Amino acid sequence: LVPLLANLGDPDGAAEAVELGAEGVGLFRTEFLFLSNDEAPSVESQKKSYVDLLAAFPGKKVVVRVLDAGADKPLPFLTDEGEENPALGRRGIRALSFHEDILRDQLTALAQADAETDADLWVMAPMIATIDETEYFMNLATELGLKTTGVMVEVPSAALLADQILKVADFASIGTNDLVQYTMAADRLLGSVAHLQSPWHPAALRLIKAVADGGQVNDKPVGVCGEAAADPLLAVVLVGLGVTTLSMSPSALADVRAELLKHTLQDAQRIAQAALDTGNADGAKSAARAAA
Ligand code: PEP
Ligand code: MG
Repeated sequence: LVPLLANLGDPDGAAEAVELGAEGVGLFRTEFLFLSNDEAPSVESQKKSYVDLLAAFPGKKVVVRVLDAGADKPLPFLTDEGEENPALGRRGIRALSFHEDILRDQLTALAQADAETDADLWVMAPMIATIDETEYFMNLATELGLKTTGVMVEVPSAALLADQILKVADFASIGTNDLVQYTMAADRLLGSVAHLQSPWHPAALRLIKAVADGGQVNDKPVGVCGEAAADPLLAVVLVGLGVTTLSMSPSALADVRAELLKHTLQDAQRIAQAALDTGNADGAKSAARAAA
């Protein structure tokens, strides 16, 4: 059975996530540390939050995402308010590499917190689109003392290059919220294009499969940490596509676990293939239901 992990937005939710059966953390969003501030928080204050988080998961995997500023998460001191299309602008790793001091401080705080705690800390970067960005992030994280470093796959280019990106990165985690937004060219916050935003769309499923295949050939783990992982039947499809961990809001863990327990891996692969062989999101969902 694939490990089920929790998505957390601050350390306060950690205890509840453990109670609800999280086997670790698959996505720790760090924006909360930055959103209420006019400037980046100090290494010392960040480290305190990371220690609080890591201390709740001794011996367990905890995947922390470095700051994802821009687009739906603007930050005055980091992002350019004049961009006409901020979702296609300097967000995520692009903003961080432009303000490398902020990235260095965050990675330093994470390495210090790691040294003081017993969790298995993994660190990943948001919005990776290229192999160059992957190498840049891996090199910096390694230089600053982090042991396991990976990328989020949220941009179609990264999914298409996953076999090469995963030669470099230790792991990948698919952010389906943004991956669907960029695959379908449909703003994730815009109701008028909501019909295009389904992670069931076979276009998204094919990209997810490309990432899982890239993980398999390189023997590297590939997780999903977007909302898609919280849909029980879609979780079965994701496992069938070759995804090795699922991370979701803790309240979804029990239902996803119950659904996964109903199927063997072979079943999941058959269900995933049925979904892949369709031409739209509704068709994929119906085909998966019929095959399950
Ligand atoms: C995603 O894009 O799927 C994701 C997990 O990141 P966020 O929702 O924070 O952009
Ligand atoms: Mg995202």
